[in-house]
Amino acid sequence: MQTHIASAPSVSRRKALGLLSLSTAALASGGLSAAPLRAATPADAALPAIRTPLDAMAELISGNRRFMEGRPVGPHRTMARVQELAAGQAPFAAVLSCADSRVPVEILFDQGVGDLFVCRAAGNVVTPELIGSLEFGTVVLGARAVVVLGHTGCGAVKATIAGDPVPGQISTLYRHIRPAVDRTPSRELEEVSRENVRVQADLLRTSSPVIAQLVREDKLMVVGAVYDVGTGRVTLLDA
Ligand SMILES: [Zn+2]
Repeated sequence: MQTHIASAPSVSRRKALGLLSLSTAALASGGLSAAPLRAATPADAALPAIRTPLDAMAELISGNRRFMEGRPVGPHRTMARVQELAAGQAPFAAVLSCADSRVPVEILFDQGVGDLFVCRAAGNVVTPELIGSLEFGTVVLGARAVVVLGHTGCGAVKATIAGDPVPGQISTLYRHIRPAVDRTPSRELEEVSRENVRVQADLLRTSSPVIAQLVREDKLMVVGAVYDVGTGRVTLLDA
């Protein structure tokens, strides 16, 4: 894969083309429109404004690139930012990631306080509690994109493929990840992990009428992606 961006999942072709274009020249320009969602402080003046789902995805993609290339901005990490947001939050994107300690969401997207509404569960599984949380982050708080973020070397996916007995309630994760295993004849870990992201993203899109409505109105994008724990790269997935 030559580019950071494989494609835009489950969005219209127009949106997909928009995301692909963002992966190249448009991102480099940083020329995004004025933004109600991110009021930049003087120290963050170089940050792009964020208003639309494509703006949100552009900043996530750009932030991951900054992280990968070792030139993070580290935005919104001052006490001034903390104090500014004490009365309320308006994160520009939501992320459902695995709980894996190698997937530090704000760091890998080069974001700061108040930027991302992050929900985590081993295997980045979509349960009713996670759906409710993501509805809060989008419908109530106004996040413009939801990224379902799997990762390479995922222990939860690996354990589900193996199906071995595990302590405590760890095996309760299995039933959420099993559909991806069943849909992947090779049972190869990374292939199953990618399929699991697709399964969970589809579940989120189809099980939440309010999220589906935001997507229909072009106010929200639900995107699947995989983070490579060896390279730091986030790759968007086909639907
Ligand atoms: Zn994991």
